[in-house]
Amino acid sequence: MIDTVPGPLAEPCRFGVYTGLELELQAPDAIPPAARLGLEPPRFCGQCGRRMVVQVRPDGWSARCSRHGTVDSAELGRR
Ligand SMILES: [Zn+2]
Repeated sequence: MIDTVPGPLAEPCRFGVYTGLELELQAPDAIPPAARLGLEPPRFCGQCGRRMVVQVRPDGWSARCSRHGTVDSAELGRR
């Protein structure tokens, strides 16, 4: 299997998806309240800290890391 690259938000994340900082360096209150509720799209890849390409739609969002692929809010809702 080649398709074993973890997705941008796969656990455990190494980087804050809203700050791009290593989680060890990220303050607990760095995550905006809207983000905790899942309303705010992630801006950075949780695996590598790269800035992701984010597209916001009326019904959600998708975010793409050049290394780790795309995560979509619709997929998160189904989990
Ligand atoms: Zn990545």
